[in-house]
Amino acid sequence: MNFNFYALIESRMPKERNAPLLETESGETFSYADLDRATARYAAFLTGLGLNKGDRVAAQVDKSPQALFLYLGCLRAGLCYLPLNTAYQKGEVGYFLQDAEPGAVVCRPAAEAWIRDLAREAGVPHVFTLDEEGRGSFADAAAGSPAVFATAVLAPDDLASIIYTSGTTGRSKGAMVTHKNLASNGEVLRQYWGFSAADVLFHALPLFHVHGLFVACHCVLLSGARMVFHRKFDPAAALTALPRCTVMMGVPTFYVRLLEAPGLTQEACRSMRLFISGSAPLLKDTFDAWRERTGQVILERYGMSEAGMITSNPLTGERRGGTVGFPLPGVSVRVADDADRPLPAEETGGVQIRGDNLFAGYWRLPEKTNEEFTADGWFRTGDVGSFDAGGYVHIVGRAKDLVISGGFNVYPKEIELVIDTLPGVVESAVIGVPHPDFGEAVTAVVVKDAKAELTEDAVIAHVKSQLANFKVPKRVYFVNDLPRNTMGKVQKNILRDTYSKQG
Ligand code: AMP
Repeated sequence: MNFNFYALIESRMPKERNAPLLETESGETFSYADLDRATARYAAFLTGLGLNKGDRVAAQVDKSPQALFLYLGCLRAGLCYLPLNTAYQKGEVGYFLQDAEPGAVVCRPAAEAWIRDLAREAGVPHVFTLDEEGRGSFADAAAGSPAVFATAVLAPDDLASIIYTSGTTGRSKGAMVTHKNLASNGEVLRQYWGFSAADVLFHALPLFHVHGLFVACHCVLLSGARMVFHRKFDPAAALTALPRCTVMMGVPTFYVRLLEAPGLTQEACRSMRLFISGSAPLLKDTFDAWRERTGQVILERYGMSEAGMITSNPLTGERRGGTVGFPLPGVSVRVADDADRPLPAEETGGVQIRGDNLFAGYWRLPEKTNEEFTADGWFRTGDVGSFDAGGYVHIVGRAKDLVISGGFNVYPKEIELVIDTLPGVVESAVIGVPHPDFGEAVTAVVVKDAKAELTEDAVIAHVKSQLANFKVPKRVYFVNDLPRNTMGKVQKNILRDTYSKQG
């Protein structure tokens, strides 16, 4: 049996290979036959360079159908795909090349000169380019390779990809994802979310992250479905595409921005059967506003690079706003105290997991990997949460975001939820900043409506009326926007840096 995840994809391709797989915003279409030929060429070309099973291929490229084929070509050849966020600068890319020692790197044409310098320093022998139209030295060189390739035969634990964690805290670590991880998570999601060949996915997520690369593409590829593929998310373009689609996957920011567009109506969503959100918390307000405007209920799910998807609200049955739903089939989730003892429902603690979706460890960091596992084999996600009485999982925040003030543990989310109920507040982020008496001082950073007359004292008084004194912010700062990374996550490290320096 071949456990190469690409072999599973091949086995699911429509009998009619000319069936459409992907349509770009400019109307260009690609079929499953195109995918088969492109991945064969890319696989043949890369192995022809002398790359062997498990060798890494790094890619810092703009989103294009060819970028997706590059990923799939690597899987097909048994190579390990290493996608890099296009926002990464020299220092970061240099670190990844040194750390992962890829056999080849594919980059944007504009970055070629500096990537060549970094590649030379890191001893990476091959550098190619690929632009957002799918052109460049990589495409040119691979064009001469044969369009047939015998998919490499692999074992379940062979490496498929290394995903460097988004690093909102500390140095990025490379999560090693295996073919078994991709297959188990892909199959579970396809079934849980009811994907079929009739589906058309609206895909506007980046391809360098698990959400856009694995979750979205695998659901489509494992069900012989197709997708409308936009390079970037643009609300107006999305509204034009949605009437031809059945499912959308997005980060919460997509939903917030669509709600700002007057064209978002029930009619605009008439062909849609499912809206899925993840990668960052979806505000309850957004969840409610979406239901009111479109008549549809967003399905929120939770996952991470190290584990793919972990929990999801159900396809049928109640989707509960402000929660991330139930553990997925085959994934075990528990909430544990600091001594790794499981806690009962409604108590808050560390979220720990087990299952075939769980990664093989951090690249070349066996000690760091061991630290993240409990003595009885559970992985510490680093997220803090609880189960409610109905079995739905609530994520309260990251353990590293926990504020310890005067010896008390303060979960930022609890305070943010209280601040967010104040009229005039758009959203808020609570952080801890060093404080001579308390260790850390609870500090709130608030985005308010332009017209709202909200003061620091009013926010403090509001929290004081609802929560224990040690949870009340010592300072409140007003800003126009919270800093976010490309996946929509609030970068609390930036807020901590900024406000640690202020009095
Ligand atoms: P990444 O590895 O970049 O995908 O980041 C994973 C982290 O994103 C998780 O550990 C969570 O902290 C966060 N996350 C993902 N989905 C959700 C969600 N639906 N609600 C809250 N946090 C989420």
